[in-house]
Amino acid sequence: MKRRVFNFSAGPAALSKEVIQQAADEMMDWRGSGMSVMEMSHRGKEFTEILANAKADLRELMSIPDNYKILFMQGGAIAENAIVPMNLIGRKPQPATIDFINTGHWSVQSIEEAHKYAKVNIAASSEDAGFTYVPARDTWKLSQDAAYVHICTNETIGGVEFNYTPEVGDVPLVADMSSNILSRQIDVSKYAVIYAGAQKNIGPAGVTIVIVRDDMLGHAVPACPSAFDWKQVAEHDSMYNTPPTYPIYIAGLTFQWLKRIGGIAEIEKVNVAKAKLVYDYLDSTGFYINRVPVADRSRMNVPFVLRDESLNAKFLAEADANGLVQLKGHSSVGGMRASIYNAMPLEGVQDLVAFMKDFEKKYG
Ligand code: PMP
Repeated sequence: MKRRVFNFSAGPAALSKEVIQQAADEMMDWRGSGMSVMEMSHRGKEFTEILANAKADLRELMSIPDNYKILFMQGGAIAENAIVPMNLIGRKPQPATIDFINTGHWSVQSIEEAHKYAKVNIAASSEDAGFTYVPARDTWKLSQDAAYVHICTNETIGGVEFNYTPEVGDVPLVADMSSNILSRQIDVSKYAVIYAGAQKNIGPAGVTIVIVRDDMLGHAVPACPSAFDWKQVAEHDSMYNTPPTYPIYIAGLTFQWLKRIGGIAEIEKVNVAKAKLVYDYLDSTGFYINRVPVADRSRMNVPFVLRDESLNAKFLAEADANGLVQLKGHSSVGGMRASIYNAMPLEGVQDLVAFMKDFEKKYG
């Protein structure tokens, strides 16, 4: 078998080797059931156990308080851009206002969708500097009576990450954590709703995690599809419709892997070390450039450009030949991007930096 490459894809992204191996071992016969998880009834005792364990493990890992529900949904974070307003604007007289902090591509996507449901207030934006920073909390112009405040805690394309949880008083704080959930310790009780697509730090694409405080349930607008009404989904324990059973199973294996290696506190240390390795090198050379100020740099996605962009194709081809794949930046910004989620081992980042140094020596 070809050795596994170091995969720097932004998502779907690398999963833990241990998780993949365990899934392979259990593929034909899940723990004596005589069948694959893919073939199980979602209401059978085997899958009921898989779902319950996944939920309990996520609750433990993130210290999710009892007054929050964990939902496994479909549609990804993009669907949540509509599902969130449909579930929350009903808490206010119509038309409701939603406050947004605009930190880049994924915030913009959320904002554009929200216009269909509510008045939108851009309380702060870093568009003035090409979305390279997180606007300081004391510059935010929040509305008097917003239905909620929305942030994207990690902009996967821009490589800009909140390094703190903002205080927004009594207004519900809603966060798209698709690309940094489980990567750092956070205080869930400061958020009303957290949502995340799975395909970066959790498992395969197809399941969306929604962590929602109980008082946010039961406010869906009448037109909200029942399958997207969080209250319905919660009351049916994520079984209102058939849930994406296999992605939930893999998510559960990832949660167990995280628990085995010491939980979020431990993986956060590794993530800090990995990010430091790349950024320290980027800061030491003019050959590669990252434009994000130190405090706002993402630990998960490191975008950079080569000073001489005519070397881009060579860089990607030689990286590939060295088993370092999917380093091409998002088409909207160009350049390169190294996504170094939880499942990327320190060794992969060491290899990347060593390759980048060699490449600089050769062509710099
Ligand atoms: N938000 C963020 C922060 C993302 O990184 C992505 C995917 N890259 C999305 C939303 C969209 O996710 P999906 O395509 O799974 O709906």
